[in-house]
Amino acid sequence: MSDADTPMVLADKVCKSFGSLEVLKGITLEVGRGEVACLIGPSGSGKSTFLRCVNHLEVVNAGRLYVDGDLIGYREKGDKLYEMSPKDAAKQRRDIGMVFQHFNLFPHRTALGNVIEAPIQVKKQNKREATQRARSLLDRVGLADKADTYPAQLSGGQQQRVAIARALAMEPKLMLFDEPTSALDPELVGEVLNVMRELAASGMTMLVVTHEMGFAREVADQLVFMDGGVVVEKGDPREVLANPQHERTQSFLSKLL
Ligand code: ADP
Ligand code: MG
Repeated sequence: MSDADTPMVLADKVCKSFGSLEVLKGITLEVGRGEVACLIGPSGSGKSTFLRCVNHLEVVNAGRLYVDGDLIGYREKGDKLYEMSPKDAAKQRRDIGMVFQHFNLFPHRTALGNVIEAPIQVKKQNKREATQRARSLLDRVGLADKADTYPAQLSGGQQQRVAIARALAMEPKLMLFDEPTSALDPELVGEVLNVMRELAASGMTMLVVTHEMGFAREVADQLVFMDGGVVVEKGDPREVLANPQHERTQSFLSKLL
């Protein structure tokens, strides 16, 4: 279904409400293969909800959301849409990695144990193979020597790097990051951003909610500013940051500096 021209993420007027609360009011955006898009905006603007829709943790109410050409959450039959079964939803989610603000590691498993869990349980990899891959991923995030350490003995930055390795272990085609450095002490932010920078350089498609403007300026192909459930402005990060077109973008950015 997918080919080189199919965008990795395509959102077409995506709407999401919780009861009478309209959170996403027609989000339209596109992330190409190998691109990094950074999503910024005030608290409550719907950034996390949008990521959760992409990852099928929430089902959109209107509009369409495609990942790698696959419609998320629904099956199309003729011109009708049917909500997908939980089993098919889980299958779609398997190819998408997500990293959260709070690292959500299994506390009773070592770093290595956290990374091998899903490949063994979900992908049915054998333990030897999963362990070998997990060690190389831990090495990639700079934690080769922490394989046998439990989360409580790791710093926040180290835990977040384990969480990234854990997501990568499923060999995702898309990585979602929801404020991955917001819960970290300032001196630990850089080590996580460095891992993300390397991941971007390796060609991973990434959708990143962050307020790290240095990262956005340097790494992102696209900066998307959301407010009140809509995309107010998007474009080349250097241009948006240097010359925001909308008053709401200007006011948000001026508060960050
Ligand atoms: P952001 O990540 O930009 O801060 P969110 O997507 O977390 O914003 O939230 C947007 C709005 O949606 C908020 O008003 C929030 O309270 C509401 N919201 C998010 N998830 C739910 C939910 N499961 N049920 C009800 N309201 C929700
Ligand atoms: Mg959020």
